[in-house]
Formats: sequence, C-alpha cells, structure tokens
Amino acid sequence: MHVSTPSLRLLACQDCDLLQRVPSVRPGLRVRCRRCGALLYRQVPNGLERSLALAVTGVILFALANAFPLLALRAQGQVLEGTLLSTARALWQADRPLLAILVLLTTFLFPLLDLAGTLYLLLPLRHGVRPPGLGPLYRFLRSARPWGMLEVFLLSILVAVVKLGELATVIPGPALYAFVALIFTLAALSASLDPYSVWQRAEGAA
Ligand SMILES: [Zn+2]
Repeated sequence: MHVSTPSLRLLACQDCDLLQRVPSVRPGLRVRCRRCGALLYRQVPNGLERSLALAVTGVILFALANAFPLLALRAQGQVLEGTLLSTARALWQADRPLLAILVLLTTFLFPLLDLAGTLYLLLPLRHGVRPPGLGPLYRFLRSARPWGMLEVFLLSILVAVVKLGELATVIPGPALYAFVALIFTLAALSASLDPYSVWQRAEGAA
C-alpha cells in the first residue's frame, strides 16, 4: 500500500505495519524497513521488461513441458511414455480423483494462469496502458502463486524414478528438461516482479 505525491512517498511495511517515508533510489538498490529490517521494495533495473521476457520464456517452456513425454519406462521390451497431463489422467483412472485434480491444478492450471495473467498485465503496462481488471487480477495472481507446485511434482518424479530403477529402465524425456527450466524461470519471474513497480507503472499508465 502506498501514497504517492511528487514530494512525499509513504510506504507501509508489510511485516510490522510501520508507515514510513521512503526515498527514490536508483535501480539495483533495496529499501528496508527502518524498524524491523524487512524488504520494503527493490528497484529492479528494467524490472518490468525483465519479467516480461521471463514470462514469454515461461510460456515456451510450459508448452514444451506439456507437448513431450516427461519420462519413458522400458521393461521387458515394452516402452511406456507419460506426459504431464497423462499423469493426471492415469491417477483419475486409478481411482484417485482428488490426487488427479491436485496434480492438474498445481502443475498445470496454476502455472498456466500465472504466466498468462502476468503477460496480460505486463504487455499493456509496458506500453503505458492500464489493462482492465489490473487490481483484482494482480492480487489474485499473487495469492495463487504459492499453489503452483512444480518442484514438489518434480521431487515425486525423482522418488518414483529411484524406486522404479530396479524394475524398469527410466529414460528422461525432453519435457523433463523443459520442466526443470520452467521451475527456475517461474522462480526468477516471481523474484523480478516487484509489486511496487507494477503499481507505480499502473499509476502512470492511461
Ligand atoms: Zn517493518
């Protein structure tokens, strides 16, 4: 939350609620709370452009991660391939509907919403246009982000690979590499997109 006029800028600390006057700092510097030391905001150099580039990279990786098999299992001359979505389908067919829905939401829907929503917000903002529904959508994206759990899914794949190692030959598919890259891209996106600069751009936009 912030109030901004050319001469006075107030920012409330998200951790301890202290309202304080903050200086304009040059890109790259961090501003911390005077009382508790929490990060108030960070002026990422070209933050919006960097986030936009990461979001576009994320969309490409997301498409690759879903288009190709994650893993292939070879046992007794037979090869079984599985994509991300086929994992959810297999869980559904194995009478695990709750788990299937959870996998679908945390590995497919939330990351997709995150990327699509970020692009929807940043593309117009970059050109000085305020996209309709910016406030509610940005708040929703921030609250939905923790529900994208690609790394948890990756961990479960690794556990399965170790356990299945004795029974079958596990061949990593192209999607697995895209999947790992996507995890890092989403983490970088989350770190580069500072809410303060988003609202600042939105304020200046038409
Ligand atoms: Zn504080």
